Amino acid sequence: MNTQRWGRWIACYFVCGILLLPIGALAGQAKNVILLIGDGMGPSHVGAAWLYSNRILDKDLKMVEVMKAGRTAYLVNDTADAIVTESAAAAGQIATGQKMTARALSMAADGKTPVKTIMEMVKAKGLVTGLVTTSGITDATPAAFAAHVPHRSDEASVADQELKLGVEVLMGGRKQFFLPEISAGKRKDGRNLLDEARAAGYTVVGDAEELKAAEGSKILGLFNMGNMVYEIDRPSTMEPSLAEMTARALQVLSKSPKGFFAMIEGGRIDHAAHRNDAAATILDTLAFDEAIGVALDFQRRNPDTLIIVTADHETGGMALIGHSKDSKEYVGIDLAAIRKTTASFEVIAGDLGKNPTPEKIKELVKAYLAIEITDDEATIVANDTIRKLEPANYSYPYLHSLAFVLRPYLRVGWGSQTHTASPLLAFGTGPGSERIVGFLHNTQLFEIMKTAME
Ligand SMILES: [Zn+2]
Repeated sequence: MNTQRWGRWIACYFVCGILLLPIGALAGQAKNVILLIGDGMGPSHVGAAWLYSNRILDKDLKMVEVMKAGRTAYLVNDTADAIVTESAAAAGQIATGQKMTARALSMAADGKTPVKTIMEMVKAKGLVTGLVTTSGITDATPAAFAAHVPHRSDEASVADQELKLGVEVLMGGRKQFFLPEISAGKRKDGRNLLDEARAAGYTVVGDAEELKAAEGSKILGLFNMGNMVYEIDRPSTMEPSLAEMTARALQVLSKSPKGFFAMIEGGRIDHAAHRNDAAATILDTLAFDEAIGVALDFQRRNPDTLIIVTADHETGGMALIGHSKDSKEYVGIDLAAIRKTTASFEVIAGDLGKNPTPEKIKELVKAYLAIEITDDEATIVANDTIRKLEPANYSYPYLHSLAFVLRPYLRVGWGSQTHTASPLLAFGTGPGSERIVGFLHNTQLFEIMKTAME
């Protein structure tokens, strides 16, 4: 073959090869990005949910499917001012690519200069956006993508900013920050943001049925005055699941010809882990996994979609421990006992009330967890012995003492009642996910999303 023919063959090889590749795969370019954040979801939370799913529900996690199909990285998350982060700084770092300080929402390390977020960037380019959570829609993780405030507690301002930015889909809890005090809300400025949202073209919905029937290209779904309920308590309510919200959100956002950016949060994994509540933690992680399944199905139909799954930080120092009461090591989490649990620690704490007697504690533990604790153990809970050892760091009366007493029964231990610096997982699939490998800092997720959407 002469040089000219070789040249033609080589040219043909490259041109044909390029034409055969999907456009997204060639450039790592994504039309849509779905970022899924399990708030407080450390590796043990994933591990416990994986065991429960496989051994009790007889199916694998969608997370595992994403990991197998895509890429996985070890993720760290230290901030500008701390080793252990909270959700505001962590989400701000993912949303902006810059290190942040605790409790400020998408502000530079000086705490007062707003830093542009990925959501604001794509919005400026004409893409549509969505935020979905089981926590408050004004809580730190969703807020960091659409708002800038010096302290995350200013949720009235966050609600205002989310609507001002025109985030097309907003779903979650904490309706109280959209309503004035006169309507049982927490707004001191007297404004009713639900009315303002309707005037701005939003369909406003308040329960699962209304969400199903909702029409329009902008949806504000607020399903609880406070946080949405834990998955374990949800059957007795009219609240949609995270998966149902995710499906509706993707349906609305995918009508945009230019593409979309959506952040979906399993917001209450964190809250359950703060309370050292093993069953609620596992069930909320599984509900988050269902939402990942919805995103994965969407991605199969729309392969130009980048899915990233990660966490903001670990909560609780959760550990699946080996020993039971009458064995030594190597038993592991009692999945059957988790399955028998019928309510969250939040509900149990409500029933315990103030100053419960050991008898009442025994009775409620038996009723809700089908576990018979001893008189001595019930007395430890009644005296709240564990909390008294370190009162500044133990937030919820009786629950940490209860979790400690339940340790050898459930075989789940907790190193903390708050966040830890445990490394996290980040995994994804779709165009741009080839960069989610090895060792990443959470600020790098911003670059990965930004590059994929350029
Ligand atoms: Zn937390």
